[in-house]
Parts: sequence; structure tokens; C-alpha cells
Amino acid sequence: MTSIAANNDKNNNNGKTRLQKTKRGMRRVDGQTFIVTFQKKKLEEFTTEEAIEVDVYCQTDSSTSKVVLSRTKDQDDNYVIDEAIKIIASKRKEKYENEKIKKREKAKNLFMEYLSTNSKDDKLLLEGAKLWPENLHIRVSLTSHYLKNGKLEMCIRHCKRLVTEARRNNNTSAAVFEELGTDISAIVSNAYKIMGDALVQVGEKKYKHAINAYVLSLRENESNAKARKALEQLRISMNEKSEKDAEEKVEGSQDGLLDEEEEKKRKIIAAANVVGEIEDLLSHHQMVSRDTNFKFQCTMCGECCRQADNIFLSPTDIWRMARTPSLWKQFHIRTSMKLRKKFKKSFHWTVKNGLPICYLRPIKSETGRCHYSYPLYHVNGTLLSYDETVKEGLLEEEVYTPVKPEEYNLTEEEELAAMAKFQEDELDEINTIGVTEEKNEGSADDAGDDEDSEDYDDDTDDDEDDNNEGKSTGTDKVVNKKRKDKKKKGKSLPVSVLNSYNRQALGCALGEKNMPNMCAGYPIAKELSWADFWHVRETKEEKEQNADVYRTKRDHDGEKIVIVKTDACEGFYPDNMPRTQPFTNVNAVPAVAREQPLDDFIKHNDLDRRWEETDWFMKLIDEVSSSGIIDALNDDKEAKRNFQTKLVNIWFNPDKLANEKTIGLQGSWKTVARAVDAATKKLVDEFRAKYVLEQLD
Ligand code: SF4
Ligand code: SF4
Repeated sequence: MTSIAANNDKNNNNGKTRLQKTKRGMRRVDGQTFIVTFQKKKLEEFTTEEAIEVDVYCQTDSSTSKVVLSRTKDQDDNYVIDEAIKIIASKRKEKYENEKIKKREKAKNLFMEYLSTNSKDDKLLLEGAKLWPENLHIRVSLTSHYLKNGKLEMCIRHCKRLVTEARRNNNTSAAVFEELGTDISAIVSNAYKIMGDALVQVGEKKYKHAINAYVLSLRENESNAKARKALEQLRISMNEKSEKDAEEKVEGSQDGLLDEEEEKKRKIIAAANVVGEIEDLLSHHQMVSRDTNFKFQCTMCGECCRQADNIFLSPTDIWRMARTPSLWKQFHIRTSMKLRKKFKKSFHWTVKNGLPICYLRPIKSETGRCHYSYPLYHVNGTLLSYDETVKEGLLEEEVYTPVKPEEYNLTEEEELAAMAKFQEDELDEINTIGVTEEKNEGSADDAGDDEDSEDYDDDTDDDEDDNNEGKSTGTDKVVNKKRKDKKKKGKSLPVSVLNSYNRQALGCALGEKNMPNMCAGYPIAKELSWADFWHVRETKEEKEQNADVYRTKRDHDGEKIVIVKTDACEGFYPDNMPRTQPFTNVNAVPAVAREQPLDDFIKHNDLDRRWEETDWFMKLIDEVSSSGIIDALNDDKEAKRNFQTKLVNIWFNPDKLANEKTIGLQGSWKTVARAVDAATKKLVDEFRAKYVLEQLD
């Protein structure tokens, strides 16, 4: 025993001595992490000048290089660390530059080969782009190649890649473009034009995205005549189609197929869907950077919660919506199971490449507004919260008549008259506070319709307490009585907050924190998402190219954001125009909208994190889509339906993935993403093993 202990002590001492003698230091240079290790010497062991051998480890490629440095007595350990890293970092850079020259030469040859042989093979271009990612000529040829050969998805993907590279270099490698003598705006504009052409060829369901792509093309370069022509043609054909559809519907209604109200509603929807003139479209889209000043002030007029369509929901959106404090208070909702059950009609379904996609569609709702919206009322100038609104039995507003274009496209005189009228009305309202009509009661779930062809249910019963759900009627009767009593006693009653169109202003029951990412991002979007929401997955090669530290984009370098102005949104009103005033004077909506750098708006609404979430889900969709599982299940309808239903339960009921002992998934959105990723992978593997591998056998 004794001898073993003695040996251990000796080993420990040896280890300690060794550790004491080794010096380590870490630095980040050019986005790379270096770790330096060398043997430390005591000062008394020093001669005047000492050669010192240093190991420099680089995390980027896990390589270790040796450097021999000369060090004098007054140069400390930090000098050794800095100097060694400086030498290695510069050698690496030099090596990188030499390799880059060789790669570019090879890329040029491949490109020339493609051009000279008029090759139909995209491999030459792809290899060229891999060797010289910044080369926009090669990338332009790739997009045209795919468009010409009908490979539309590849074309769209490479247009996006082209824009990304152009933006990146616009800020970081300007020299490359000088060398190429290329105008970045023209290249980006053409990329969007080609993307628009590809989207048009995909078919009618992509026309709206094609309009967006052409608009971005013109926003980048207004003199792009080809983009202008393509946009005009598409605009005319979409409008003709819209008019024809409306006429058919009207004819149908005259045959007694639709009632008068329905006909009116459809006409209005058809009119609202008409694509405006090019100049109008351009004036409604601005392409800016994060440092651009952004003049926007949401007034809670509620028009976006009525007119929005296709509000895409990710698993984390639904998970967060289910954690809204007011929904817990009112309906005891705290999991996606509860939310899905209570607000069933708010969820609309579609399929993309055979995979289920979930949306909110306020414009489709029977009441003409989102299921999560609530009418705004105030009592003596104090705004009622969602909970108070429910308690007062005021959730259901009067019949809403959609705002028509002529109501927001006012002439200058009309605007002035409207402003005068608004001021008059405001005075009247102040004088008549305390007198209002009785409202009907209802719950959020009473609203909406369910027009979509796909409808997915949960496959298990909700195991939580249902007792408090949807029982507003009894309470509302009491509330009604209380309100009547108040009226008798001359107490103030809630007064509707009206927007500038004289419609009821709306709030969101989910609040800023819990509303879907798409709502929080309104009215801005990242340029490439605006052009086409899908296709975000990087290929293996793209990942490698982007991992190249010398090319890595720093923060949001070169990124562009699109501001999309909708006519009815009060947030963009000119200064001093009458707007919704939901608050008392302390918080009153200013007559002149606040101006702030766009980046502040992005930070305030936590949009970088929200966009990261959406990208994560897009990538997951793309991965499942490219796994080929849906194609493999195409011949077995039952198996396909079974797969889709299970996927719906994983993606749009994420709390079901929680441990049985916990109520729903706890943690951050990343916890949810991890759980959804793992469950999706397991499901795909299960179905692959059962159906794909079986087929191969
Ligand atoms: S902000 Fe809220 S109420 Fe408005 S559309 Fe989005 S979820 Fe619905
Ligand atoms: S001001 Fe604009 S963003 Fe705000 S509620 Fe109205 S339409 Fe929506």
C-alpha cells in the first residue's frame, strides 16, 4: 500500500511540475481560434536571448504547426503567444491566397470549357462555382442553365445563392468585382428577374412570389427593362384571371348558388387581390439595410389582423402561442394540445411536397378577423385588456365591412376632410363617453371557418382539465347584467376604439411575445424570404464554402431587408394623418410616427432569433422533403396519410413530445427544435425501414 501511494505521489508531483512548466494561450485572429503551447522557463534559467519552440494549434482544421521564436529576457509569455500566432496566421493566409489563385485559374478553365463547348452539363459550372464561389459570372450562367433546362427548383436556389454572394462581396471583396468590371446592382436585379421567370414557370401558385421577385429586381435596378416587361405581363394575366374568377362567382350567385352577402364578400376579396400598377407596387416595397431609418408606428388599427393571409406557423410558433398568459387565464391553455383543441378553426392546412404545412388565415375567417384578435374598447380613456374584454363579454365585434381601396387611396382634399372629420368625431366621442351599444358575447373559438381541404386531428385525447374551456355564456350573462346595472347607475361603459376607417380597432390576445414570428416581423422581411419563402437548405458544398473563414460573412454584412407597405396599414400614414388612438394621452399614438434605425426595430421585436427559428423549420421541411420518403409512399395512400398525420402531431403539436411527467415541453425554443428534429428523424427512419427498404427487398 505504502509503495503504491509513494508512486502516485511521485506521478502527481511529476504531472504538477510538467503542468507548471507548460504555458498555454488562446487568441482569435481572422475568425480562427489558435491555441499556443510552449515550455515555460524560469527567469533565472534565461540567457540574454533564447530560442523557444512553440506549438500553434488551429481549431479551423485541427492542425498543429511549429514555430521557433527568439525571445529576450524582457519579452513575456504574451509576447511569445502573440508573435507565434501572428506568424502562423500570416503563413496560413499566404497559403490560402496561393491556393485561391490556383483554384480560380481552374474555375476559369472549367467555365471557358462550358462556354466553348456549349455544354449541357451543369457539372462544369457547379465545380467552377465551388472553386470560385464569389464568381458571379459562373453563378449567372448556372441560373440561366437551370432555367433553360427546366430545372426550376435548382434555378431558384442558385438565384438565391447568387444574390447572397453578390451582397457578401459588395461589402467584403469589392476588389473581385472591380477585377470583373461588374455592376452588382445589375447582377442582383437579373438574378431576381430569372428567379421570377422560374417561379412563373412553376405555375399559378407561385405567381405571387414571382411578382415579389420581379418587384425586387426593379427595386434593385429600376431600369431593368426585361424585369419590367415580365412584371407587367404577369400582372395583366393575374388581374384578368382574378376578374374572370370574380365574374364566374357572381354568375354563380345569380343562379342562386351564393347568397347576396357571400357574393358581395367574394367581389371585395377578388378586388383586393388585384395586382396594382408597377409604380404602385414599387412604392409599396423598399429594399434597405439595417441602418436605414425606419418610420413606422403600429397604432393597433387591426387591419393586418383582418387582411393577412397565410401566416405560416412553425412548431415553435404553436408552442409559444400555447404559453400565452391570457389564454391560460381564460381557457387554461398551456400546451399545444389545448391550443389546437380550443382554437381548432384557426389552423388551416395545406401540403408542400407532400408535407403538412400549417397557417393562420385571418382573411378566411367568418368574422373577418384573426381568431386571436379581440376588439379594443376603453373605459374613460383606459384601454381594456384581453382578459377584461372577455370578462365584459365584448369579444365579438359588430359585423365588419372590409376596407375598400377607395377608402385608403384618398386625394389630398379627401385626406384633409377626413382629418377634420376625425377631429370632430374625437370631440364627440369624448363628450359621449359612457353611452354605447350592448354587444353580443362569444368566445374566440366561435369565430372562423374551416375551408381547407386538409384537416388534421390529434391522434390522442387531450389529457388536461377541460373544465374552464369555452364557458363564457354563464359568465357573460352576469356581465351583461352588471353592464346594464352600471348603465342604470350612470357608470361609464366601454367605448369602442375605432380606427381611421371607422372600423373597430383590434388587439392580439397573444401579445407581442407570443404572437407568431410572421406577425412579429410585420411589415418587414429578409429579401430572399420575400422573393421566395422556401429553399433555405445549404448543400454539403455550400456548407463547406460558407465555412471558409476568410469568406465568412460578419454579422449582417451586405444583408438587405424589404419593407412592405400595405395601403390599409396606419403604421405608414403620412405625418398628422388621423390614426387610431387606443391609449390615453400618456401613451397616445403620436401624430408623427417614430423614426428609428431598422436594426432597433429588429432588436425590439427579437426578429433575428425569430428568423433563426423559421429557418430551422424550413431546413427541417427541406430535409424531410429531400429524403425521398414521400415519393416512396406515393403508391400507398394509407401509409402516406399515416405518415402525414404523424408528422402533423410532431410538428404542430410539439408538446406531445414531452416526457409524460411534465406538462408540455419546457425550456427555450431550441429545446422544442431539438425534440421536433429527433422525433422527425425517428419517424422518417421508421417509415424508410418499413416502406422504402421493404420495397428494395
Ligand atoms: S397579430 Fe395576433 S391577432 Fe393579429 S394576425 Fe397575428 S396572431 Fe392574429
Ligand atoms: S398599424 Fe399596421 S401593423 Fe399596426 S395593427 Fe394597423 S395594420 Fe397592423
